[in-house]
Amino acid sequence: MSERDATEDTTADNGSETLFERIIAREIPADIVYETDTTIAFRDIKPQAATHVLVVPKTRYRNVAELAAADPRLLADVIATAGKVAELEGLGNGYRVVFNTGADAGQTVFHVHAHLLGGEQLGPFGR
Ligand code: 5GP
Repeated sequence: MSERDATEDTTADNGSETLFERIIAREIPADIVYETDTTIAFRDIKPQAATHVLVVPKTRYRNVAELAAADPRLLADVIATAGKVAELEGLGNGYRVVFNTGADAGQTVFHVHAHLLGGEQLGPFGR
C-alpha cells in the first residue's frame, strides 16, 4: 500500500477554494457552454479533443466517489448535463465522459468534474 491514499489531494485539501469555485463565482473567466441550478459546463483551457468540456457540480466534493456517496442525485445531474452539452455540441456520433480520480489518474483539481470529450475519433484508454 502506498503511503498516501489514492485520492489524497496534495494541492487543495484544506477546505480552501479551488479554481472551479472561482469559475462558478465568475471570479475567473471561463467559456461557459451550459449551466443549470446545480451544475456548470465550460470548455477545458487545454483541450485534449476537438470538443473538451468540463462538467462541474456547483457543490464541491473531492471526487466522483465522494459525490456518489453523498449526493447521488447531484451525480445524476452532472451526467445529465454532460448529455445535454453533447447534444448542444453536436456529438451525435459518440463521446466519452471521464472522471479522473486521484494522483495516478492525473486529477489536478480536487473539485469533482467530468471531462466530456468528443468531436473526433478518440483513441484507446490507458497510457
Ligand atoms: P483533472 O486533471 O483534475 O482531471 O482536470 C482538470 C482540468 O482543468 C484539466 O484538463 C485542465 O486543463 C483544466 N484547467 C486547468 N486550469 C483551467 C482554467 O483556468 N480554466 C479552464 N477552463 N480549465 C482549466
